Amino acid sequence: MKIYNFSPGPSILPKEVFEQAAQGVLNLNGSGLSILEISHRSRDFTEIITKARDLVRELLDVPKNYHILFLSGGASTQFLMSAMNLLPSNGTAAYLDTGSWSSKAIKEAKPYGNVDVIASSKDRNYAYIPKGYKAPSEALYLHLTSNNTISGTQFHEFPEVNIPLVCDMSSDIFSRPVDVKRFGLIYAGAQKNMGPAGTTVVIIHDELVGQSERILPTIMDYQTHIDKDSMFNTPPVFPIYGSMLTMQWIKDNGGIAAAAERNEKKASTLYAEIDRNSLFDGVVDKEDRSKMNVTFVMRDVANEAAFIDAASEAGCMSIKGHRSVGGFRASIYNAMTLEGVEKLVYVMQEFERANG
Ligand SMILES: *Cc1c(COP(=O)(O)O)cnc(C)c1O
Repeated sequence: MKIYNFSPGPSILPKEVFEQAAQGVLNLNGSGLSILEISHRSRDFTEIITKARDLVRELLDVPKNYHILFLSGGASTQFLMSAMNLLPSNGTAAYLDTGSWSSKAIKEAKPYGNVDVIASSKDRNYAYIPKGYKAPSEALYLHLTSNNTISGTQFHEFPEVNIPLVCDMSSDIFSRPVDVKRFGLIYAGAQKNMGPAGTTVVIIHDELVGQSERILPTIMDYQTHIDKDSMFNTPPVFPIYGSMLTMQWIKDNGGIAAAAERNEKKASTLYAEIDRNSLFDGVVDKEDRSKMNVTFVMRDVANEAAFIDAASEAGCMSIKGHRSVGGFRASIYNAMTLEGVEKLVYVMQEFERANG
């Protein structure tokens, strides 16, 4: 039976990428050596990380005055590293609280300066994206989470403010075009839409680097990683390799615009069924629905376990919702096919026929 994996992360990658990555583990580029055993300073690996960097620049159209880094420690390390580098102890940064991940970013930034949470959607369990706020004029940057992986909301417009945006794009990077010029710093853990878990891409504007008066541990200073081309310490070689292959796959399949079109189609197909089907309800405000993580519940909660069983029997895996939201979450990242989404829709329709 064909398996469709709706896991929120680590999540599916294109089948071609799994095959190429497996080949690289066994015999990289016909060298007789594994990607796992060669020096990170070897020519083969240098070519891989250079290509990965070039692909980020090309796919997202990153201007020349931005640096692109591949770090480790996950997006979770960026929660504090961004504040350590960008927020002086007497400075203010504005934050939007749109879910569990942004709350964590807020918590981790607080020790470093004044963190001003200018809007939050916590009052409705993060079921919407706040609007109509203003960033205080003294704020140095505005931090936001572009896609809220757990509750299933997404910014479809980025805030119009005249300070740099600092953005956690872990769960929707490469899913749609973004105007990088509006951001001072973008970071994303690989394991949702970019590659295997273990590396985090950081895209940072030149002017934000090296401004900190704080004494930073060497490894926590963006300048270190810029100076060393992301090789200050041994980089996560396999996750970078897998990310490079995934980005190449995106490029070979029409680039970001084509990916966005496929994602649009998948999301609208699934949401249309949620809205049509008498057994299910969406969780979040329609205008803020995520195109990556689709959250929904069953009107009759007693039937939820049976639906998860029916989905698994049809090959649709990992659709259980996060414990803080309940119900279901179907993560439909770039590598999920429309066929997979249509299969889940079919299971929903069959379930309605049997139980409606
Ligand atoms: C998964 C996720 C994280 C955490 O990433 P790690 O790489 O595990 O630290 C942070 N932010 C968002 C939006 C996520 O989806």
